[in-house]
Amino acid sequence: RKKLHNTILELKGNIRVFCRVRPLLPDERASPEGNFISYPSSVESLGRGIDLVQNGQRHSFTYDKVFSPEATQEDVFVEISQLVQSALDGYKVCIFAYGQTGSGKTYTMMGRPGLLEEKGLIPRSLEQIFQTRQSLQPQGWKYEMQVSMLEIYNETIRDLLSTNRSAPDVLRAENGSPMKQYSIKHDASGNTQVSDLTVVDVRSAREVSFLLEQASRSRSVGKTQMNEQSSRSHFVFTLKISGINESTDQQVQGILNLIDLAGSERLSKSGSTGDRLKETQAINRSLSSLSDVIFALAKKEEHVPFRNSKLTYLLQPCLGGDSKTLMFVNISPDSSSANESLCSLRFSARVNACEIGTPRRLT
Ligand code: ADP
Repeated sequence: RKKLHNTILELKGNIRVFCRVRPLLPDERASPEGNFISYPSSVESLGRGIDLVQNGQRHSFTYDKVFSPEATQEDVFVEISQLVQSALDGYKVCIFAYGQTGSGKTYTMMGRPGLLEEKGLIPRSLEQIFQTRQSLQPQGWKYEMQVSMLEIYNETIRDLLSTNRSAPDVLRAENGSPMKQYSIKHDASGNTQVSDLTVVDVRSAREVSFLLEQASRSRSVGKTQMNEQSSRSHFVFTLKISGINESTDQQVQGILNLIDLAGSERLSKSGSTGDRLKETQAINRSLSSLSDVIFALAKKEEHVPFRNSKLTYLLQPCLGGDSKTLMFVNISPDSSSANESLCSLRFSARVNACEIGTPRRLT
């Protein structure tokens, strides 16, 4: 079995999957029968295997990396920093966080507010990018950076940086007015254009952190009104990077997309009616579209179903081809989450066993 997994890992191209198990929270407990989930025993061991025991059956999965609960935000960032760096070299990079609500996606992406050492990979990535930009200046490199942030809820895009006071998207959502329709287009050079989306020029990591706060306020306004919407929507952070070297005339265009996906949990059949049912169906459809797209790219199929969801259509130029994709599968160690954890491990194992483009190293 181990040999098979290793072969799969070698065959894969530009997609990697990291699994991260969060610590038990104070009111949670491990399974009464002992550990139902087992993972690498220490951060240093950086193992690849994770086992989950359910109803007496052991399910084993292998990933590019498995982070145990002791792994710090820094430990995780060290493993992705070169991938982030490649956006400055002109690559299109997507980093996703996948998992049920409460499994640690937002912690991984954003971190815990106010605690510097617990900053997530979005703020860490931006600090690194702006530091590198500075260090490349003496070699003649000049970079321009633009940020946009949006949310996809029920297949509808909401601009999180809209400052249009007369009708910001969050208020439309609150009072039930029809949502503004954003259309997605891909231009001739393969860039995504979202009509009317706010795009902000940024010069420092600090400026981006103000924008992140603004986006998080926009999200939380929606949240009180709409069923914890933030866990029911995909959050997409995009940094566009254009660089030119004034001595050599070399040019690069890179993109870094950091995506906190909607919670992957299935609703129990009872009680899933009305809006909640519609919401869950929209999430399940778009998450399975994401895995369908990755599969079609892997199999080099002629038709890749990018148009089946807003998320995949939005990210079309950044998936496949020469781009680089990393998916975090976030896992809760709480015994009551065993079913959902198994579903997440299965979903991501499917994604992990893929080859996109020619085999190459991630960094
Ligand atoms: P999600 O975004 O998947 O819904 P959260 O990121 O909000 O989940 O995590 C749920 C809770 O677990 C939060 O209180 C968060 O602070 C905590 N948490 C998640 N991952 C970790 C971690 N690696 N270390 C410490 N606390 C964590």
